[in-house]
Amino acid sequence: MTCYDLHSHSTASDGSLEPSQLVARAIDKGVDVLALTDHDGTEGIAAAQQAAQGSDLRLIAGVEISVTWAKGTVHIVGLNIDPENDVLQQGLSSMRDFRVGRAEEMASRLEKAGISGALEGAKKYASEVMLGRLHFAKFLVEHGHAKDISDVFKRYLVRNKPGYVPGDWASLTDAVHWITAAGGQAVIAHPARYKMTATKRRRLITDFKDVGGVGFEVVSGRQHPEEVKALAKLAQQFELLASCGSDFHTPDNTWVELGNLAALPESCTPIWSVF
Ligand code: AMP
Ligand code: MN
Ligand code: MN
Ligand code: MN
Repeated sequence: MTCYDLHSHSTASDGSLEPSQLVARAIDKGVDVLALTDHDGTEGIAAAQQAAQGSDLRLIAGVEISVTWAKGTVHIVGLNIDPENDVLQQGLSSMRDFRVGRAEEMASRLEKAGISGALEGAKKYASEVMLGRLHFAKFLVEHGHAKDISDVFKRYLVRNKPGYVPGDWASLTDAVHWITAAGGQAVIAHPARYKMTATKRRRLITDFKDVGGVGFEVVSGRQHPEEVKALAKLAQQFELLASCGSDFHTPDNTWVELGNLAALPESCTPIWSVF
């Protein structure tokens, strides 16, 4: 059976492997089709594509766009995008600009909470192209302000905690539009991970479908089998395609591995039926 992993990160966003290392690891783990879906940018794709050349691995050009919807943040994955597309790149560049200002603001809020040097410290963990909360989290752990990454996301950088800056990301409409303009398929990332009621989740899916979204991740890394079942049912009800992806960021996280995913339930129409 073909092994699909349609959600992963490299050093072009907040992953810890270079695109070429990520591709090598995917091959090693038996992945046949890998999508590189870095946050709000496509800078890693050329290198990943080059690394995949001459191997049996098929690299899908992707992106994971941060969206503000109903005052919260949701992530929309674009698959099979043309990274050269102007509409997409203009949209993404506005998001990168927002990230620069947000990082400065996060650092100044941490400073007020008595933690200095966060901006420089976070940059040490990041590539030139993207600075995110995970880079700040690594700095905070390194300096003993939290015991590990998940501890950081409980005590810092989230609502009502030091270092939090509200997101001002793309609208759902814009994110889906950029992806479709670039020839890609828009998919809601890890729909079970958002803290929202079932009713609100259905509203998200409805809104998403209304603006041209075609699927969501029925299977994502570290997910309970019951959740997979519930999501498969939702996909069927809404007549949406099913995607699957590990959301791999780093080999350090031993419970999320490239290609290590449950099979999509029989009732699902896989997103790759339209690839
Ligand atoms: P940003 O897009 O800069 O707001 O950062 C979001 C990223 O932070 C996610 O893609 C994850 O990589 C990371 N993240 C958020 N919450 C957690 C968490 N509880 N544990 C580990 N990583 C997290
Ligand atoms: Mn991330
Ligand atoms: Mn995400
Ligand atoms: Mn992700």
